[in-house]
Amino acid sequence: MRERPPSSLPPARKRLGQHFLTDRRTLERIVEAVAPQPGETIIEIGPGRGALTDLLVERAERLVAVEIDALLVPVLRTRYASRPHVTIVEGDILGLSLPSLAEGAWALVGNVPYYITTPIIFQALRSPRPSRMVFLVQREVAERVAAPAGDDAYGALSVNVQALADAELVARVPAGAFHPRPKVDSAILRLTPRERPVVLPEEEVGFSRLVQGAFGQRRKQMRRVVRELYGVGPEEAERVLAACDIGITARPETLRPEDFACLLRAAGNLPGQAATR
Ligand code: SAM
Repeated sequence: MRERPPSSLPPARKRLGQHFLTDRRTLERIVEAVAPQPGETIIEIGPGRGALTDLLVERAERLVAVEIDALLVPVLRTRYASRPHVTIVEGDILGLSLPSLAEGAWALVGNVPYYITTPIIFQALRSPRPSRMVFLVQREVAERVAAPAGDDAYGALSVNVQALADAELVARVPAGAFHPRPKVDSAILRLTPRERPVVLPEEEVGFSRLVQGAFGQRRKQMRRVVRELYGVGPEEAERVLAACDIGITARPETLRPEDFACLLRAAGNLPGQAATR
């Protein structure tokens, strides 16, 4: 089902990534994926003209919607004026403390502008984390985030996200589901933070440097990768890999987040470990 936007609304601003969802089934699938629970606050990123907000309002016990566009904020405030459980916040989602917008448990949802997708994901994966996050993002990004080890799309982004959350690509969404139509297809991505993340908060920087460094040499074998990253000889590299049960001929693209975490810890005392700290 498609709708033309009412002429009383401000025009879409591409600079703010404004491609509004007009496909009812996609909107419903996003809400089903976030599945608001009793007592939870749902935080929506970029409500825009309210297409997704209209459905969330009916399902959420408390809804906080953060919109950066000062022209849309009064439209949204008027639209939900009679719904006391809805708060419209004007601001940049990246500049806000998300947990402080919620009361207790919270989940995050949004059809997010492509240019801020990755920063939003990593912002939300900082503790205290939401119970769930559901994003409509560029299809390629969703595929990379959710790719399993060994897949062509598996890379540093997959490992860094999957170390902290389970990632699922819920559904692919064609460009025709939006108005104005974007140049790329999209997908619904659900992230469920792990109860026990693979890395501790204080290890995250070192972990992501190690992963980035390893995928910079994704075609090389791990013995060579460890030697180059840590500046050690073959025996040292083999010892570290054996401690983590990683084959010396394995390639970075086959290692799971758990393997990288083990490597980070096992390599902790190597002379060149400062390179990945
Ligand atoms: N949720 C609406 C829908 O599905 O039709 C709008 C989605 S549109 C792709 C993205 C929305 O995010 C726009 O309303 C835009 O103004 C807003 N936005 C862009 N950057 C933002 C930011 N940094 N913080 C909050 N909202 C932002």
